[in-house]
Amino acid sequence: MATDSKCIFCKIVRGEIPCYLVYEDAAVLAFLDIGPLAPGHLLLIPKNHYATMDELPEAEAQALGAVLPRLTSVVRRVTGAAGVNILQNNGRVAGQEVDHVHVHLIPRRDQDGLGYRWNPTKYAEGQAEALLKEYRQAMSP
Ligand code: 5GP
Ligand code: ZN
Repeated sequence: MATDSKCIFCKIVRGEIPCYLVYEDAAVLAFLDIGPLAPGHLLLIPKNHYATMDELPEAEAQALGAVLPRLTSVVRRVTGAAGVNILQNNGRVAGQEVDHVHVHLIPRRDQDGLGYRWNPTKYAEGQAEALLKEYRQAMSP
């Protein structure tokens, strides 16, 4: 099992610090975020330690993904939220503070005051096509 002795979420996985556990299976845990953006804000993590999503093996990504629909539905039902944001930060610049992969499930209500800057931009001439070429090459087996 991949674990990091200093990582706060690994300590939760090892039972060294407590959490309000909502769900557990062989590969993942879901628990209440200690600093919720809204009541019922959950974190879903792999039990193994990986700092960011790009390090996660496919099988563990599948285990995370498999529980997301049910967890989203449960967040809605239990909190009565009108919507749910699923957010996953990678790297400091992207807002990641805990270096153990985690998915936020954030209950949303009308006028809840939550939000982030979402300022769409436009591609320069040829830029999208150039990126597309590179993406397709990078994704080809
Ligand atoms: P990030 O900014 O890395 O995407 O989010 C880290 C999240 O972990 C934050 O929302 C923070 O409140 C939560 N968190 C940090 N330490 C603990 C902890 O010890 N227990 C729990 N349950 N959540 C934590
Ligand atoms: Zn960890």
